[in-house]
Amino acid sequence: MYDISALYEAKTVQEAVDLLTAHPDAIIIAGGSDVLIKIREGRLAGCKLVSIYGIDEMRGVKMEDDGTIRIGSLTSFSHIHADPVIKEHVPVLGEAVNMVGGPQIRAIGTIGGNTCNGVTSADSASTLFAYDAVLEITGPDGKRLVPISEFYTGPGRVALKTGELQTAVLIRKESYEGYHGCYIKYGMRNAMEIATTGCSVNVKLSDDKKTISDIRIGYGVAAPTPIRARSAEAKIKGLPVSPDTRALLGEAVLEDVTPRDSWRASKDFRLHLCSTMAMRAFTGAVRRAGGEIDD
Ligand SMILES: Cc1cc2nc3c(=O)[nH]c(=O)nc-3n(C[C@H](O)[C@H](O)[C@H](O)COP(=O)(O)OP(=O)(O)OC[C@H]3O[C@@H](n4cnc5c(N)ncnc54)[C@H](O)[C@@H]3O)c2cc1C
Repeated sequence: MYDISALYEAKTVQEAVDLLTAHPDAIIIAGGSDVLIKIREGRLAGCKLVSIYGIDEMRGVKMEDDGTIRIGSLTSFSHIHADPVIKEHVPVLGEAVNMVGGPQIRAIGTIGGNTCNGVTSADSASTLFAYDAVLEITGPDGKRLVPISEFYTGPGRVALKTGELQTAVLIRKESYEGYHGCYIKYGMRNAMEIATTGCSVNVKLSDDKKTISDIRIGYGVAAPTPIRARSAEAKIKGLPVSPDTRALLGEAVLEDVTPRDSWRASKDFRLHLCSTMAMRAFTGAVRRAGGEIDD
């Protein structure tokens, strides 16, 4: 039973802003793969919905003149996975979203919904943290840009104000050019499974491929929201590409993560995952960047 008291359908971003402003208690629905389940379970009884699914201007991937990759917030996971711009410049994002649920969910679920639900396990989130993505938010006062690292305000909460929606995910040229990465999702099984923990590492190596010029580490389910492991990044930056550096990384990330016990996994197991996955993703990223490192 879907207990919905009103459904408003926006065809443009401006219409969505107007509807959300006129109905501040209404909930945005995009692909509906989170929202409809909550409604069916009775958790949003009598809700009002503003559907943004028909706003075509919010769909698709394009390269802007300054090299920024613009992903419309309504772009589906299957589109992102297959997109040539994503494949060429930010392949890890395509790989990460291809691990979401199963083919049906990837066809309907959107990157905007995956980031706006505020959930720490969202498969796109840790990789977007590792790419230093910026979110375009549009509302009654126009557009504003929010770094993804400032978007999550608590478990299930994001920095959206009344009348606002997320219209695009932006990855700037300086955030992806020269970076190579790897996303690892640990789950109980390979499909239709929310991450027990997810880790995404991006590295930039020196010209001779022997030094870590830069590193960004994003996690899901290592804290109440997705996070960057910034103290570990600071320790690893400038060190040689070596198994010792990798071992140091495995230790250092433990100062950044604060996982909890849940029915999926204990805190101790998640701490082990955080360390092991960082080291494995680091190895994968270094090799993709052309560096040599033993197992
Ligand atoms: C069977 C199943 C398996 C799944 N497996 C995974 C998985 O493995 N990994 C994973 O990460 N997720 C998984 N999910 C969760 C889900 O598919 C994703 O979170 C999806 O990306 C949500 O996108 P949507 O367009 O369907 O969002 P919706 O359900 O329409 O919305 C989700 C939330 O975001 C808000 N919202 C949506 N778009 C916007 C916007 N543009 N601006 C502002 N607010 C917005 C809505 O108000 C709502 O709060 C699974 C879901 C199901 C049902």
